[in-house]
Amino acid sequence: AGFAGLGLSGTLLKSAAAAGLCEPKPIQQRAIPPLLAGRDVLGVAQTGSGKTATYALPILSKIIGLGDKRRPRTARALVLVPTRELAVQIEKVVRELARGAHVSTAMVLGGVSRSSQVRRMAPGVDVLIATPGRLTDLVREKEVVLSETTWLVLDEADRMLDMGFINDVRRIAKATHPARQTALFSATMPKEIEALASSLLRDPVRIEV
Ligand code: AMP
Repeated sequence: AGFAGLGLSGTLLKSAAAAGLCEPKPIQQRAIPPLLAGRDVLGVAQTGSGKTATYALPILSKIIGLGDKRRPRTARALVLVPTRELAVQIEKVVRELARGAHVSTAMVLGGVSRSSQVRRMAPGVDVLIATPGRLTDLVREKEVVLSETTWLVLDEADRMLDMGFINDVRRIAKATHPARQTALFSATMPKEIEALASSLLRDPVRIEV
């Protein structure tokens, strides 16, 4: 039962409990097993549904198994979000759930100093949380390398669409590893998001909560 019954183990079970996550929420029950199995997921879910831990726990589970070898400027996992506020919030959750493990995080966001972001990316990071505009710039300038990014999460995809980020999102996805695993979460599913999902996800498990 609980998160152990979904296939999570060890340090993540402890950190989830310490973060106050006891019984998995419906989206966690339905999405964590396929994510751990390597499937793509399309989640129609609102803020407050528990979607952050839904993708963070499986990604962390896989990253913890990889050890400390990273390559300069690369990110193993990328979470794309519409706003800085959301990025800051997600990084906090990821760090909390990664407590006790060697997992590095970084953020690439518009409106704040580029040089500190570039410095933080220099040794390579495990989980990068980014807004699409600034990341597109840094990828173009090769300050950030996504060719080894094998986990991609698009969070609040409908808000990224509303904010005009859809082409940046497509460009960024194209720069990631072709054999990546992708999860897309959106509160609503307008036809542009359906189209984005069908071009970026491979045979996804669709979950609506
Ligand atoms: P989110 O939808 O990811 O923004 O999460 C909304 C809130 O639900 C956050 O405050 C989480 O800490 C909380 N939460 C997520 N999963 C669980 C869980 N399994 N049990 C209790 N609280 C949770």
